[in-house]
Amino acid sequence: MSVDEKLRVNAYLVHTRPHISVNFEKCKKCQDKPCTKLCPAGCFRQLPDGSITFSHDACLECGTCRIVCRLGAITWDYPEAGFGIWYRFS
Ligand code: SF4
Repeated sequence: MSVDEKLRVNAYLVHTRPHISVNFEKCKKCQDKPCTKLCPAGCFRQLPDGSITFSHDACLECGTCRIVCRLGAITWDYPEAGFGIWYRFS
């Protein structure tokens, strides 16, 4: 079973309140925007005008975005108990 196939069988209970918040004003100052390249779930997207969009719906709770953001634009926490991803395979 491939990694993509394993990820597809995970389940999510998405909270309406995101567990990650992004300071988009700081993102404007970021040249390479590593979150758009390194988030394994594709939660960050760069638009043609250079701005960023973010959605927490498919977040894998890996913490990569928090580590790679050099400008401190990401405020990160785990989702409230009972919410977030339910891994079927570790
Ligand atoms: Fe993407 Fe991981 Fe950050 Fe979630 S925690 S938004 S999966 S990089």
